[in-house]
Amino acid sequence: MQFIDTHIHLQDYKTRSAPQVLAAAAAAGVRRVVCAAIREADWADVAALHEQNADTVIPAFGLHPWYLDDCRPGWETRLAQMLEKYPRALVGEAGLDRLKNPQPLPQKEIFAAQADLARQYGRPLLIHAVKAQEWLEDLWDRLPPKFVFHSFNGKKELLQKIVKTGGYVSLAPSISGRPGKEDMIAAVPAGRLLWETDGPYQGEPEQLPGLLQYVAGIRKSEAAELAATVYRNSEEFINVGK
Ligand SMILES: [Zn+2]
Repeated sequence: MQFIDTHIHLQDYKTRSAPQVLAAAAAAGVRRVVCAAIREADWADVAALHEQNADTVIPAFGLHPWYLDDCRPGWETRLAQMLEKYPRALVGEAGLDRLKNPQPLPQKEIFAAQADLARQYGRPLLIHAVKAQEWLEDLWDRLPPKFVFHSFNGKKELLQKIVKTGGYVSLAPSISGRPGKEDMIAAVPAGRLLWETDGPYQGEPEQLPGLLQYVAGIRKSEAAELAATVYRNSEEFINVGK
């Protein structure tokens, strides 16, 4: 079975090197990974990981809401330059986190600017959203056609809205065994589902076969069939320009 890890931070591994992580991923059937930056200081590292592993590592450039203090004037122009230089790059990790920081500004502005760039350049957007449903209401119309709520564990109403708008949700190994999440896992339409690990934070690529079994069990679906569907979804999601 084949997998795509649609959200990993290869640049953040301390105990294993990126080649070790990628080798273990490949051995588990993980064909490609999307390597997400979290701050501007990461962008060059993520670009280098992509250049060293052009077939397997797809870059994503963005500003994570936890690290906006690092944000320097002119970042929008520099992000646009990265998107021009790397035509396969996604935008992210971007987002809104009201649990970490209850102040809406500058979070909402910086998120909206990244959403605008994703739309303008026709790139998918990787979204980190925690307790942010109200803020999202105002910004929903600015989302690009392709977006994913990463490590989704939100409410059914939000899931319905994402699905209705044509967005995706990705599940990470950290959801396994978490009580009370079964209904949400069963409610995601198969065509809207992606896998991720958020590695090294919420799992490792070699855990994706286990996550597949767990999710297939809850959904009462055949694992090979679910794996094939999610693989197709992932290819569709990351293929820029389609
Ligand atoms: Zn992440």
